[in-house]
Amino acid sequence: MSLKIVVLAKQVPDTRNVGKDAMKADGTINRAALPAIFNPEDLHALEQALRLKDAHPGSTVTLLTMGPGRAAEIIREGLYRGADNGYLLTDRAFAGADTLATSYALATAIRKIGKPDIIIGGRQAIDGDTAQVGPQVAEKLGLTQITYTEEILNVEEGTGRIVAKRHIDGGVETVEGKLPIVITVNGSAAPCRPRNAKLVQKYKRALGAQEKAAITKEGAALPYAGLYDERPYLNIAEWSVADVDGDVKQCGLSGSPTKVKAIENISFQAKESRTLTGSDADVESLIVELLANHTIG
Ligand SMILES: Cc1cc2nc3c(=O)[nH]c(=O)nc-3n(C[C@H](O)[C@H](O)[C@H](O)COP(=O)(O)OP(=O)(O)OC[C@H]3O[C@@H](n4cnc5c(N)ncnc54)[C@H](O)[C@@H]3O)c2cc1C
Repeated sequence: MSLKIVVLAKQVPDTRNVGKDAMKADGTINRAALPAIFNPEDLHALEQALRLKDAHPGSTVTLLTMGPGRAAEIIREGLYRGADNGYLLTDRAFAGADTLATSYALATAIRKIGKPDIIIGGRQAIDGDTAQVGPQVAEKLGLTQITYTEEILNVEEGTGRIVAKRHIDGGVETVEGKLPIVITVNGSAAPCRPRNAKLVQKYKRALGAQEKAAITKEGAALPYAGLYDERPYLNIAEWSVADVDGDVKQCGLSGSPTKVKAIENISFQAKESRTLTGSDADVESLIVELLANHTIG
C-alpha cells in the first residue's frame, strides 16, 4: 500500500540567539535579523514520514512550507534527506499570519496537493510556540488527529488503520486511528536521518523563483541556467494565494484575529538572579518565595 504523505515544516528564527532587533514595531518577527533554521520538531516529523516511505514502497513524501522566498531552504533540506518534492506557499498576503490564518493557508494548499493519506508536522514551532497549527489544519480538513506522537508503529495494508505511540505526561500511550489523518510529532521521537550525499549532489542547485530573481536582480546570470529546463525537479514550486484558490481575507494579518498588543524585550539583570544550593533550607525558602509571589500554588 503506497502512502501519499505531506510534511508540514516551518522555517523558524533560531531563537537560541535572539538579538534586540528581533521584533518589528508592529509586533511581527524581523525574520531578516535572525538566522533561519528548520523547526526542530518538524525534522522529527520528516523522519517519521521517511520511515513510512521506507516501509511502504511507492509512497511519496511532499514538503509543504509557508514563508518568505528564502524558506525554499526548507524544501531543499527535505529533498537532501529523501523527500520527493515540495511546495513553498509564499505571498505578501500570507505575512503576519497567526495560527488561524496559517492553518487556513496550509489546509487550502493541501487541498490543491490533493487528498494525502497522512499529513504530518511538528508538535510545536520554536518561535510561536503555540502547538495550534497541526490541530487547526486537522479541524479545517475535517480529519482525525493524533498529537504528541513519539512513533508511528504501524499502518495496516488495506484497512488504513494506523497505530501510534503518544508522549503524554508521565508516560506513553498507544492509540489507533484511520487514514486520512493528521499527526503531530514530539521532540522525543527519533531524530531525523542526516542529509544523503547523493541527494545533496542531485538537489543542491534546486531554487525557488524568488531565489532565482534575487540572484539575477542586478542583471547577474543565473549559474547553470540550462539545468532548470533539463531537470524540472530543480525548480522548487512556489504557490501564491491565487495559485491555491485562497481567500485573501482569511490570510495573513487580515485573517488573523490574534493581535499582538505589545512587545517587550526582557533581559534579565544579574541582581535578579540568586544562586541556591540544594539544601532543604534553600529549597524551602525558594518555595515560600514562589508561593508568596503566586508563581506557584
Ligand atoms: C513570539 C510569537 C508569539 C506568537 N503568539 C501567537 C499566538 O499566541 N497566537 C497565534 O495565533 N499566533 C501567534 N504567533 C504567530 C504564529 O507564530 C504564527 O501564526 C505561526 O505561523 C504558527 O504558529 P506557531 O509558530 O505557534 O506554530 P505551531 O502551531 O507551534 O506549529 C506547529 C506545527 O505546525 C506546522 N507549521 C506551523 N507554521 C507553519 C508554516 N508557516 N509552514 C509550514 N508548517 C507550519 C509545523 O509542522 C509546526 O511544527 C506568534 C508568533 C511569535 C513569533
